[in-house]
Amino acid sequence: MTFEGIGGSGKSSAIGRAEQWLSGGGIGVVRTREPGGTPLGERLRPLLTEKSEGHVPLHRTEAFLFEADRAQTFDEVILPALREGHVVLSDRGEYGTVAYQGYGRDLPIDLIDRMTAFATLQRRPDLALVFDLPVEVAMARRHRTPTTDRFDHERLAFQERARQGYLFAARRDGVRARVVNASRAADEVFDEVKYHIVDVLRS
Ligand code: C5P
Repeated sequence: MTFEGIGGSGKSSAIGRAEQWLSGGGIGVVRTREPGGTPLGERLRPLLTEKSEGHVPLHRTEAFLFEADRAQTFDEVILPALREGHVVLSDRGEYGTVAYQGYGRDLPIDLIDRMTAFATLQRRPDLALVFDLPVEVAMARRHRTPTTDRFDHERLAFQERARQGYLFAARRDGVRARVVNASRAADEVFDEVKYHIVDVLRS
């Protein structure tokens, strides 16, 4: 199961609650994240999240690095956990590359899809929860109130493209994807998360 959405959407706190709730109910849970999740992935993560220190990857390079991180996580974490019958909860997943590198960076979605299929050995999540909310609300939650300067304007526009990318990824994925209105209070959001998880575990 993947927890997807732009920064400030509340997906990371929801995944923490879901992990506690499931393991409290006696269900084996393995939690991971993208980028990260493996020793190699944790070394890739700063390259992908702290781009100001003299290395600015090309957009294509960025896509390869995210997919490389994903491949490693699939083989080292996700596939073994599934084989042992655990529920896997991932903070971000394959929708992120559609959202950020596809919609955000304008790379071709069909290529991203093929790279993702290669990285994941075509294994798809049973449930992709998309935490959706307006970008201004997400930004305010991260204590970054947008100003009128160009940098903030670009950042908001980028986040808006990513948001649309998430919604596109969910739309084309049918029942596997559930879009959760993340503007609401955390408890309300989590009630809906629980509902979707139970629904998928029962089927
Ligand atoms: O901690 P968090 O998961 O929010 O940080 C990951 C960072 O990587 C975010 O800033 C997100 O915008 C970025 N990202 C990205 N492309 C992806 C996944 C994440 O640019 N495919």
